[in-house]
Amino acid sequence: MTTQTVERARAYDTTRALLKVSNLEVEYWTRRGVVRAVDGVSFEIYPNEVFGLAGESGCGKSTIAHAITRLLKPPAYIVGGEATFDGADILRMDEDKLRGFRWEHIAIVFQSAMNSLNPVLSIREQITDVIQMHRQVSKKEATERARELLQVVGIDPSRINSYPHQLSGGMRQRVVIAIALALNPELIIMDEPTTALDVVVQKQIIDEIRELKERFGFSILFITHDLSLLVEFSDRIGIMYAGEIIETAPSREVFTNPKHPYTQRLMNSFPTISGPRQALLGIPGSPPDLITPPTGCRFHPRCPVMIQGLCPQVHPELMAVSASHRAACHLVAEEAADYAKRA
Ligand code: SF4
Repeated sequence: MTTQTVERARAYDTTRALLKVSNLEVEYWTRRGVVRAVDGVSFEIYPNEVFGLAGESGCGKSTIAHAITRLLKPPAYIVGGEATFDGADILRMDEDKLRGFRWEHIAIVFQSAMNSLNPVLSIREQITDVIQMHRQVSKKEATERARELLQVVGIDPSRINSYPHQLSGGMRQRVVIAIALALNPELIIMDEPTTALDVVVQKQIIDEIRELKERFGFSILFITHDLSLLVEFSDRIGIMYAGEIIETAPSREVFTNPKHPYTQRLMNSFPTISGPRQALLGIPGSPPDLITPPTGCRFHPRCPVMIQGLCPQVHPELMAVSASHRAACHLVAEEAADYAKRA
Protein backbone atom coordinates (compact mmCIF):
# COMPACT_ATOMS: atom_id res chain seq x y z
CA MET A 1 0.00 0.00 0.00
CA THR A 2 1.22 3.42 -0.88
CA THR A 3 2.35 5.99 1.62
CA GLN A 4 2.50 8.64 -1.07
CA THR A 5 -0.12 11.37 -1.25
CA VAL A 6 -2.56 10.31 -3.95
CA GLU A 7 -3.92 12.82 -6.43
CA ARG A 8 -7.42 11.66 -7.34
CA ALA A 9 -9.83 12.63 -10.07
CA ARG A 10 -11.37 15.99 -9.28
CA ALA A 11 -14.86 15.60 -10.72
CA TYR A 12 -17.66 16.09 -8.20
CA ASP A 13 -19.41 12.75 -8.78
CA THR A 14 -23.07 12.55 -7.71
CA THR A 15 -23.73 9.11 -9.19
CA ARG A 16 -22.75 7.25 -6.03
CA ALA A 17 -22.69 8.34 -2.40
CA LEU A 18 -19.39 7.88 -0.59
CA LEU A 19 -20.99 8.31 2.84
CA LYS A 20 -24.68 7.66 3.31
CA VAL A 21 -26.32 8.43 6.65
CA SER A 22 -29.93 7.31 7.04
CA ASN A 23 -32.28 8.12 9.92
CA LEU A 24 -29.42 8.37 12.40
CA GLU A 25 -30.56 8.63 16.02
CA VAL A 26 -28.25 9.36 18.95
CA GLU A 27 -29.26 9.76 22.57
CA TYR A 28 -27.41 10.91 25.69
CA TRP A 29 -28.71 9.03 28.71
CA THR A 30 -28.34 11.57 31.49
CA ARG A 31 -29.63 11.74 35.06
CA ARG A 32 -32.08 14.43 33.99
CA GLY A 33 -33.47 12.23 31.22
CA VAL A 34 -32.82 11.12 27.65
CA VAL A 35 -31.41 13.82 25.37
CA ARG A 36 -32.38 13.15 21.74
CA ALA A 37 -29.26 14.81 20.35
CA VAL A 38 -29.63 13.51 16.79
CA ASP A 39 -33.14 12.65 15.69
CA GLY A 40 -33.61 10.90 12.36
CA VAL A 41 -30.84 12.63 10.41
CA SER A 42 -30.19 11.59 6.80
CA PHE A 43 -27.68 12.95 4.28
CA GLU A 44 -25.11 11.73 1.83
CA ILE A 45 -21.69 12.93 0.74
CA TYR A 46 -20.40 12.33 -2.77
CA PRO A 47 -16.81 11.80 -3.92
CA ASN A 48 -14.84 15.05 -4.05
CA GLU A 49 -17.66 17.02 -2.45
CA VAL A 50 -17.60 19.42 0.48
CA PHE A 51 -20.79 18.93 2.49
CA GLY A 52 -21.29 21.41 5.29
CA LEU A 53 -23.31 20.99 8.45
CA ALA A 54 -24.24 24.19 10.24
CA GLY A 55 -26.29 25.12 13.26
CA GLU A 56 -25.99 26.64 16.72
CA SER A 57 -23.97 24.92 19.46
CA GLY A 58 -25.76 21.87 20.84
CA CYS A 59 -27.81 21.18 17.68
CA GLY A 60 -26.20 17.75 17.23
CA LYS A 61 -23.71 18.37 14.44
CA SER A 62 -20.58 17.29 16.35
CA THR A 63 -22.48 14.31 17.74
CA ILE A 64 -23.04 13.21 14.15
CA ALA A 65 -19.27 13.43 13.46
CA HIS A 66 -18.54 11.28 16.51
CA ALA A 67 -21.33 8.83 15.65
CA ILE A 68 -20.27 8.13 12.08
CA THR A 69 -16.68 7.55 13.18
CA ARG A 70 -17.87 5.48 16.16
CA LEU A 71 -16.02 7.75 18.60
CA LEU A 72 -19.06 8.37 20.81
CA LYS A 73 -18.59 7.44 24.43
CA PRO A 74 -21.26 6.75 27.07
CA PRO A 75 -23.61 8.32 28.03
CA ALA A 76 -24.02 8.82 24.25
CA TYR A 77 -25.53 5.90 22.34
CA ILE A 78 -26.48 5.34 18.72
CA VAL A 79 -30.03 4.04 19.02
CA GLY A 80 -31.09 3.90 15.39
CA GLY A 81 -30.27 4.42 11.76
CA GLU A 82 -27.46 3.51 9.42
CA ALA A 83 -24.18 4.95 8.18
CA THR A 84 -22.46 3.31 5.23
CA PHE A 85 -19.18 4.23 3.60
CA ASP A 86 -18.80 3.00 0.04
CA GLY A 87 -21.34 0.33 0.97
CA ALA A 88 -19.56 -0.76 4.20
CA ASP A 89 -21.78 -0.66 7.29
CA ILE A 90 -19.83 1.56 9.73
CA LEU A 91 -22.21 1.24 12.66
CA ARG A 92 -22.02 -2.54 12.71
CA MET A 93 -18.33 -2.92 11.84
CA ASP A 94 -16.30 -4.91 14.39
CA GLU A 95 -13.65 -3.05 16.40
CA ASP A 96 -10.67 -4.58 14.54
CA LYS A 97 -11.98 -3.61 11.15
CA LEU A 98 -12.96 -0.20 12.50
CA ARG A 99 -9.43 0.57 13.66
CA GLY A 100 -8.12 0.01 10.14
CA PHE A 101 -11.03 1.88 8.66
CA ARG A 102 -10.50 5.12 10.58
CA TRP A 103 -7.63 7.22 9.17
CA GLU A 104 -7.44 4.88 6.17
CA HIS A 105 -10.85 5.88 4.75
CA ILE A 106 -12.20 8.53 7.11
CA ALA A 107 -10.01 10.94 9.08
CA ILE A 108 -11.11 13.60 11.53
CA VAL A 109 -9.82 17.08 12.30
CA PHE A 110 -11.23 18.43 15.55
CA GLN A 111 -11.55 21.99 16.71
CA SER A 112 -8.74 22.20 19.17
CA ALA A 113 -5.40 21.04 17.81
CA MET A 114 -3.99 21.24 21.34
CA ASN A 115 -6.49 18.59 22.43
CA SER A 116 -5.86 16.41 19.36
CA LEU A 117 -2.06 16.50 19.65
CA ASN A 118 -0.12 14.81 22.41
CA PRO A 119 1.88 17.55 24.18
CA VAL A 120 4.75 15.23 25.16
CA LEU A 121 5.36 13.75 21.70
CA SER A 122 7.16 15.51 18.85
CA ILE A 123 5.33 16.21 15.60
CA ARG A 124 7.47 13.54 13.93
CA GLU A 125 6.41 10.89 16.44
CA GLN A 126 2.74 11.81 16.13
CA ILE A 127 2.67 11.62 12.34
CA THR A 128 4.85 8.51 12.02
CA ASP A 129 2.79 6.72 14.72
CA VAL A 130 -0.32 6.97 12.55
CA ILE A 131 1.55 5.85 9.43
CA GLN A 132 3.27 2.89 11.10
CA MET A 133 0.08 1.80 12.83
CA HIS A 134 -1.55 1.30 9.44
CA ARG A 135 1.30 0.60 7.02
CA GLN A 136 4.21 -1.85 6.93
CA VAL A 137 6.93 0.77 6.49
CA SER A 138 10.27 1.44 8.16
CA LYS A 139 10.77 4.30 10.58
CA LYS A 140 12.87 6.04 7.92
CA GLU A 141 10.12 5.75 5.31
CA ALA A 142 7.50 6.97 7.78
CA THR A 143 9.68 9.97 8.66
CA GLU A 144 10.13 10.78 4.98
CA ARG A 145 6.37 10.66 4.58
CA ALA A 146 5.94 12.91 7.65
CA ARG A 147 8.30 15.48 6.10
CA GLU A 148 6.38 15.36 2.83
CA LEU A 149 3.09 15.87 4.70
CA LEU A 150 4.45 18.87 6.58
CA GLN A 151 5.53 20.37 3.27
CA VAL A 152 2.06 19.71 1.83
CA VAL A 153 0.38 21.69 4.64
CA GLY A 154 2.85 24.54 4.42
CA ILE A 155 5.12 23.79 7.39
CA ASP A 156 8.89 23.77 6.92
CA PRO A 157 9.88 20.08 7.32
CA SER A 158 12.81 21.23 9.48
CA ARG A 159 10.18 21.72 12.24
CA ILE A 160 9.54 17.99 12.33
CA ASN A 161 11.12 17.51 15.75
CA SER A 162 9.17 20.37 17.34
CA TYR A 163 6.67 19.76 20.10
CA PRO A 164 3.10 21.14 19.88
CA HIS A 165 3.78 23.97 22.37
CA GLN A 166 6.61 25.22 20.13
CA LEU A 167 4.20 25.86 17.26
CA SER A 168 1.60 28.60 16.74
CA GLY A 169 -2.13 27.75 16.85
CA GLY A 170 -2.34 27.84 13.05
CA MET A 171 0.69 25.55 12.67
CA ARG A 172 -0.72 23.08 15.18
CA GLN A 173 -3.97 22.91 13.23
CA ARG A 174 -1.93 22.35 10.02
CA VAL A 175 -0.16 19.44 11.76
CA VAL A 176 -3.54 17.92 12.63
CA ILE A 177 -4.55 18.29 8.97
CA ALA A 178 -1.24 16.65 7.93
CA ILE A 179 -2.02 13.68 10.19
CA ALA A 180 -5.50 13.47 8.67
CA LEU A 181 -3.94 13.35 5.19
CA ALA A 182 -1.33 10.75 6.15
CA LEU A 183 -3.15 7.71 4.76
CA ASN A 184 -4.91 9.40 1.83
CA PRO A 185 -8.45 9.05 3.22
CA GLU A 186 -11.36 9.53 0.85
CA LEU A 187 -13.27 11.56 3.46
CA ILE A 188 -12.05 14.03 6.07
CA ILE A 189 -14.45 15.18 8.76
CA MET A 190 -13.57 18.67 9.94
CA ASP A 191 -15.36 19.64 13.12
CA GLU A 192 -14.99 23.41 13.67
CA PRO A 193 -11.37 23.17 12.44
CA THR A 194 -10.76 26.91 12.48
CA THR A 195 -12.99 28.10 15.33
CA ALA A 196 -10.13 28.44 17.82
CA LEU A 197 -8.05 30.54 15.40
CA ASP A 198 -8.06 34.27 14.74
CA VAL A 199 -9.87 35.40 11.61
CA VAL A 200 -6.73 35.94 9.50
CA VAL A 201 -5.29 32.49 10.23
CA GLN A 202 -8.77 31.04 9.80
CA LYS A 203 -8.91 32.43 6.24
CA GLN A 204 -5.42 31.07 5.46
CA ILE A 205 -6.29 27.59 6.72
CA ILE A 206 -9.60 27.53 4.82
CA ASP A 207 -7.78 28.51 1.61
CA GLU A 208 -5.21 25.80 2.23
CA ILE A 209 -7.86 23.14 2.91
CA ARG A 210 -9.57 24.15 -0.34
CA GLU A 211 -6.29 23.78 -2.27
CA LEU A 212 -5.53 20.40 -0.67
CA LYS A 213 -9.00 19.17 -1.47
CA GLU A 214 -8.66 20.26 -5.11
CA ARG A 215 -5.25 18.63 -5.34
CA PHE A 216 -5.96 15.33 -3.61
CA GLY A 217 -9.67 14.95 -4.39
CA PHE A 218 -10.98 13.89 -0.98
CA SER A 219 -14.47 14.69 0.26
CA ILE A 220 -15.07 16.82 3.34
CA LEU A 221 -17.78 16.89 5.95
CA PHE A 222 -17.26 20.40 7.29
CA ILE A 223 -18.99 21.22 10.57
CA THR A 224 -19.32 24.73 11.90
CA HIS A 225 -21.72 27.10 13.62
CA ASP A 226 -20.62 29.80 11.14
CA LEU A 227 -22.91 29.53 8.14
CA SER A 228 -21.29 32.35 6.20
CA LEU A 229 -17.97 30.48 6.28
CA LEU A 230 -19.69 27.34 5.08
CA VAL A 231 -21.42 29.10 2.21
CA GLU A 232 -18.04 30.22 0.89
CA PHE A 233 -16.46 26.79 1.28
CA SER A 234 -19.05 24.04 0.67
CA ASP A 235 -20.76 22.51 -2.35
CA ARG A 236 -23.91 21.63 -0.40
CA ILE A 237 -25.10 22.49 3.08
CA GLY A 238 -27.32 20.85 5.66
CA ILE A 239 -28.75 23.14 8.35
CA MET A 240 -29.38 21.56 11.73
CA TYR A 241 -31.73 22.67 14.44
CA ALA A 242 -32.46 20.82 17.69
CA GLY A 243 -31.15 17.45 16.47
CA GLU A 244 -32.77 17.55 13.03
CA ILE A 245 -31.70 18.63 9.55
CA ILE A 246 -34.23 21.31 8.64
CA GLU A 247 -32.86 22.40 5.24
CA THR A 248 -30.43 21.04 2.63
CA ALA A 249 -29.42 22.80 -0.56
CA PRO A 250 -26.44 23.72 -2.71
CA SER A 251 -24.52 26.41 -0.84
CA ARG A 252 -25.31 29.08 -3.44
CA GLU A 253 -29.02 28.49 -2.87
CA VAL A 254 -28.65 28.63 0.89
CA PHE A 255 -27.05 32.03 0.34
CA THR A 256 -29.45 33.43 -2.27
CA ASN A 257 -32.71 31.68 -1.49
CA PRO A 258 -32.85 30.15 2.00
CA LYS A 259 -36.31 28.70 2.61
CA HIS A 260 -36.39 27.95 6.33
CA PRO A 261 -36.86 30.91 8.70
CA TYR A 262 -34.08 29.51 10.91
CA THR A 263 -31.64 29.38 7.97
CA GLN A 264 -32.60 32.93 7.02
CA ARG A 265 -31.81 34.09 10.55
CA LEU A 266 -28.63 32.04 10.77
CA MET A 267 -27.40 33.58 7.51
CA ASN A 268 -27.78 36.94 9.17
CA SER A 269 -26.01 36.05 12.38
CA PHE A 270 -22.40 36.18 11.15
CA PRO A 271 -20.35 38.72 9.23
CA THR A 272 -18.85 37.32 6.01
CA ILE A 273 -15.05 36.92 5.84
CA SER A 274 -15.16 38.82 2.56
CA GLY A 275 -18.08 40.91 1.30
CA PRO A 276 -19.97 44.06 2.27
CA ARG A 277 -20.75 45.14 5.83
CA GLN A 278 -24.33 44.59 6.91
CA ALA A 279 -26.43 44.75 10.07
CA LEU A 280 -26.60 41.37 11.83
CA LEU A 281 -30.01 40.17 13.00
CA GLY A 282 -29.19 37.22 15.26
CA ILE A 283 -31.75 34.72 16.47
CA PRO A 284 -33.83 35.62 19.52
CA GLY A 285 -34.18 33.05 22.32
CA SER A 286 -32.10 29.91 22.83
CA PRO A 287 -32.10 26.40 21.40
CA PRO A 288 -34.59 24.10 23.16
CA ASP A 289 -33.85 21.51 25.82
CA LEU A 290 -33.67 18.24 23.88
CA ILE A 291 -35.00 16.21 26.80
CA THR A 292 -38.37 17.83 26.20
CA PRO A 293 -38.16 19.46 22.74
CA PRO A 294 -41.07 21.66 21.61
CA THR A 295 -43.98 19.90 19.98
CA GLY A 296 -44.68 20.42 16.29
CA CYS A 297 -41.93 22.43 14.63
CA ARG A 298 -39.06 22.58 17.11
CA PHE A 299 -38.24 26.11 15.98
CA HIS A 300 -41.76 27.45 16.61
CA PRO A 301 -41.06 29.17 19.97
CA ARG A 302 -38.39 31.30 18.23
CA CYS A 303 -39.90 31.60 14.78
CA PRO A 304 -40.95 35.13 13.74
CA VAL A 305 -43.45 33.77 11.17
CA MET A 306 -44.87 30.86 13.17
CA ILE A 307 -48.39 29.84 12.07
CA GLN A 308 -50.75 29.58 15.07
CA GLY A 309 -52.76 26.40 15.14
CA LEU A 310 -50.31 24.57 12.88
CA CYS A 311 -46.61 24.99 13.72
CA PRO A 312 -46.88 24.20 17.48
CA GLN A 313 -48.87 21.06 16.73
CA VAL A 314 -47.65 19.56 13.46
CA HIS A 315 -44.06 18.50 12.89
CA PRO A 316 -42.97 19.56 9.37
CA GLU A 317 -41.12 16.91 7.34
CA LEU A 318 -38.29 17.76 4.95
CA MET A 319 -40.02 18.60 1.65
CA ALA A 320 -38.37 18.91 -1.77
CA VAL A 321 -38.91 22.29 -3.39
CA SER A 322 -36.49 21.46 -6.24
CA ALA A 323 -34.26 18.55 -7.25
CA SER A 324 -31.55 19.69 -4.84
CA HIS A 325 -33.33 21.82 -2.23
CA ARG A 326 -35.38 20.55 0.72
CA ALA A 327 -36.78 22.34 3.73
CA ALA A 328 -38.81 21.33 6.77
CA CYS A 329 -41.23 24.22 7.18
CA HIS A 330 -44.98 24.46 6.67
CA LEU A 331 -44.41 27.64 4.69
CA VAL A 332 -42.87 25.68 1.80
CA ALA A 333 -45.67 23.09 1.62
CA GLU A 334 -47.34 24.74 -1.38
CA GLU A 335 -44.08 25.15 -3.27
CA ALA A 336 -43.20 21.52 -2.49
CA ALA A 337 -46.60 20.34 -3.75
CA ASP A 338 -46.06 22.31 -6.99
CA TYR A 339 -42.63 20.77 -7.42
CA ALA A 340 -44.01 17.28 -6.72
CA LYS A 341 -46.58 17.76 -9.50
CA ARG A 342 -43.88 18.86 -11.96
CA ALA A 343 -41.27 16.29 -10.97
FE1 SF4 B 1 -41.64 28.73 11.54
FE2 SF4 B 1 -43.74 27.15 11.30
FE3 SF4 B 1 -41.83 27.05 9.49
FE4 SF4 B 1 -41.42 26.10 11.92
S1 SF4 B 1 -42.85 25.33 10.40
S2 SF4 B 1 -40.03 27.38 10.76
S3 SF4 B 1 -42.56 27.56 13.16
S4 SF4 B 1 -43.17 28.78 9.93
